[in-house]
Amino acid sequence: MLTGKTALVTGSTSGIGLAIARAMAKEGANVVLNGFGDVAEIESIRSEIAEAFDVAVRYSPADMSQPDQIAAMVTEAEAEFGAIDILCNNAGIQHVAPVDEFPAEKWDAIIAINLSSSFHTIRAVLPEMRTRGWGRIIQTASAHALVASPYKAAYVAAKHGIAGLTKVVALETAEQGITINAICPGYVWTPLVERQIPDTAKARGISEEAVKRDVMLTAQPTKEFVTVDEIAGMAVFLTSDTARNITGAILPMDGGWTAA
Ligand code: NAD
Repeated sequence: MLTGKTALVTGSTSGIGLAIARAMAKEGANVVLNGFGDVAEIESIRSEIAEAFDVAVRYSPADMSQPDQIAAMVTEAEAEFGAIDILCNNAGIQHVAPVDEFPAEKWDAIIAINLSSSFHTIRAVLPEMRTRGWGRIIQTASAHALVASPYKAAYVAAKHGIAGLTKVVALETAEQGITINAICPGYVWTPLVERQIPDTAKARGISEEAVKRDVMLTAQPTKEFVTVDEIAGMAVFLTSDTARNITGAILPMDGGWTAA
């Protein structure tokens, strides 16, 4: 379905982004991976995806908190592939603390990586998408783009910001063959979730098991973690012609969390 197209997936060395990158490659897209991690491990992911699906896969180490590195990543990808047809803004970090104890540098980092990076990637890829009259932008937002949880001030603010940015860009590109949508997962079992369990346990004064049972899965009526492959499947669907009238949508995939 995506042969000849190129997908840039930020934060794709792990978790949801890696599953999206793999799913795009499976559909025939060339892929630009991005994110941090062990150099040898990233190279092994890159070459494995390229071989498995017979597509070109590149890796950019650009730091999504740095606008100049974002611009350079897009320039390099466009020089190699001609355009970025599919942009998946997925890189994200988390920090859990009461608002009055929330470290200012963590606030700044979360706003930069989880929100501002999407502004910088979108403004860089749009001119070429407009020239081609086709583009798909998929934001990995969160149920926290729709509802709040305590101790996640920066994350909730950033994800609500992503919902707003998604709607604005949808209106500005509506007649240009470009769609932009935000997928809003509930709790997905990835390293990001695993890492926040100890801090959440500390902030709430409960055990790590109780965080999983009474904080995370309590929010999700299905009592199941969402899987990375389910999110990747939705991302692929949003690139399809069938989905061409879905734009500016804030799409929960949260086991019913935000229905409550
Ligand atoms: P993860 O920690 O497994 O992956 C995060 C990715 O972002 C990694 O590849 C990491 O290297 C990259 N990254 C972090 N900082 C970066 C930076 N400065 N520059 C470039 N890359 C950077 O986490 P995940 O759970 O897969 O999260 C991916 C996205 O999904 C995030 O935006 C997150 O907010 C969102 N999300 C996750 C869940 C969940 O439950 N896991 C739920 C809703 C939304």
